[in-house]
Amino acid sequence: MNERATLRLKTGRDRSLRRHHPWIMSGSVDRVLGDPQPGDTVVVVDEASRPMALASYSPHSSIRARVWAFDVQQSIDDGFVAARITAAAERRRHLGIADGDAVRLVFGEADGLPGLVADRYGSVVVFQITTVGIDRRRDAVVAALASLDGVHCVFERSDGDNRSREGLEPTTGVRHGSLPEPVWAHENGLRFHVDVEHGHKTGFYIDQRDSRRLVAEHSRDRAVLNVFGYTGSFSVAAARGGASSITTIDSSGPALLLAETNARANDVNIGDLVEADAFTELRSLRDRRASFDLIVLDPPKLANNPNQVDRATRAYKDLNLLALKLLRPGGLLFTYSCSGAVSSDLFQKVVAGAAVDANREAHIVRRLGQPADHPIPLHFPAADYLKGLMLLTLCRLDQEDVGYSWTSSMR
Ligand code: SAH
Repeated sequence: MNERATLRLKTGRDRSLRRHHPWIMSGSVDRVLGDPQPGDTVVVVDEASRPMALASYSPHSSIRARVWAFDVQQSIDDGFVAARITAAAERRRHLGIADGDAVRLVFGEADGLPGLVADRYGSVVVFQITTVGIDRRRDAVVAALASLDGVHCVFERSDGDNRSREGLEPTTGVRHGSLPEPVWAHENGLRFHVDVEHGHKTGFYIDQRDSRRLVAEHSRDRAVLNVFGYTGSFSVAAARGGASSITTIDSSGPALLLAETNARANDVNIGDLVEADAFTELRSLRDRRASFDLIVLDPPKLANNPNQVDRATRAYKDLNLLALKLLRPGGLLFTYSCSGAVSSDLFQKVVAGAAVDANREAHIVRRLGQPADHPIPLHFPAADYLKGLMLLTLCRLDQEDVGYSWTSSMR
């Protein structure tokens, strides 16, 4: 190992680091002194060779290094990683996050652990490693997670595509204890089956906890449409909240089976399950003049990087336009983007454009986002990936009913 290699920044490229942003992009690096290997800890210095931070080196990634600590006297070892994990879990405990047992324990940079995510479902912790720096410390990660109160199983789900950028192979499996079957996420009096081995992310969308509660609160006697349903978690929440009817759309048959499992597990009826492409099905519902009182639009990440933002915004606009057309006056739209590359400003503009084209007026009655266990460091705004709007539609202008759309006539 070559722990003391140095990464020197170009002149004037130390500004974001001075504000404690934890990434050093390849374009900011003047030169690398020594011969650091992937995952080695390097000392980051400014143009005058003044030490600024200790960071983990990723020679194959455009994020060339990620900061472990701004105190350059710190030892970066297993004990350091274990202490950060314990502190992260402790913070969650003090936040008193959830009525339930599904909590994000570690959220990467927000917890000073770039490349590590860990979610807890009762006695099971599922973690994901995406960087070579933390990959080196896997044993310490497992031991620290296993030592948390009440944890009986630690499972690794390091199979995201982003690992290849760091030269890492996919790897999954039990790392401590044994995996109980089934695993459940308990939340606000509901429970959801967690497919730890194959489900999205670590098996469940913990990050929509607050929104599920809101949807439940607003579902009484409403006709609900849940688009991109996956686990059916929003449908189950709507059923528990007293929805008069529920329709769930997903293009994946297995996802709809999971939604059904979750409905049964909570002893609720979630109505119609429609296996279809959302874009096509929304158009067809529009053509059939269907209407709903509450719609949830929670698409998968449509932009994986800044190059995909244009295409993604077109898709977001299309979806929101169709959803707004399907809403009755006074209806509610819960609409989301989980694309980090799409800012909340941009997302709001896209939805506003969709409302104009749909000939609908709507108010933002709440802004929605990540819950408290997915905190956004002020110095690392990139952690702010989930943007949501709760919209109340005001009225339906009558032009559209005679087949006339002023927006299209103006183009
Ligand atoms: N709201 C969900 C999470 C959504 S994940 C929950 O509460 O669990 C995104 C879902 O969109 C996945 O289940 C995926 O199968 C589905 N999906 C992706 N592309 C789709 C498309 N074009 N049409 C319909 N569903 C799609």
